[in-house]
Amino acid sequence: MADQVLLQKLFQEKGIHDFHWMDPSEIVVGQWVRMKCMFGCGDYGRNASCPPNTPPVAECRNFFNEYRLGAIFRFRKKLDDPEQRHAWTREVNRELLQVERETFIAGYQKAFLLFMDNCKLCRECAHTRTSCRNRQHSRPTPEGMGVDVFATVAKFGYPLEVLAGYEEEMNRYAFLLIE
Ligand code: SF4
Repeated sequence: MADQVLLQKLFQEKGIHDFHWMDPSEIVVGQWVRMKCMFGCGDYGRNASCPPNTPPVAECRNFFNEYRLGAIFRFRKKLDDPEQRHAWTREVNRELLQVERETFIAGYQKAFLLFMDNCKLCRECAHTRTSCRNRQHSRPTPEGMGVDVFATVAKFGYPLEVLAGYEEEMNRYAFLLIE
């Protein structure tokens, strides 16, 4: 049984106050999400942590079923300059890697992070898993793992709207699978 008080303290020490516990069996996975990656996303085949460098959707579902506890982290941001979004993503994902690491050290050896947005740890992505420049730290996004983020976060009362522009406040989500 996870020590949620200890984990909450760990999250808060890293500045994460806006989160929700979840049972990973409640994560909504859809084949349509993968289709949106394949047809419509400019990063398909270009990011070493995105499809087709992630498992088939059915395997993603099986993977989530191996966990009994997870957390959804929400990040809200309004950017004056849309070009700042990559730097913001990089900074948040680096901090989240620390949270994953400390969760692991606290005794949760299965701890696995799904990044808030595409892995942008490097300025130029290497495009394939085997050529990834930072295989130890790169992680997939929820969407890259076939997660219907809209439907999943809505179960926990979180909003996710399609925005008309970057000048609007964004709600972005990262997932931590714990045990
Ligand atoms: S670590 Fe670098 S090469 Fe690997 S997925 Fe992330 S951006 Fe791409």
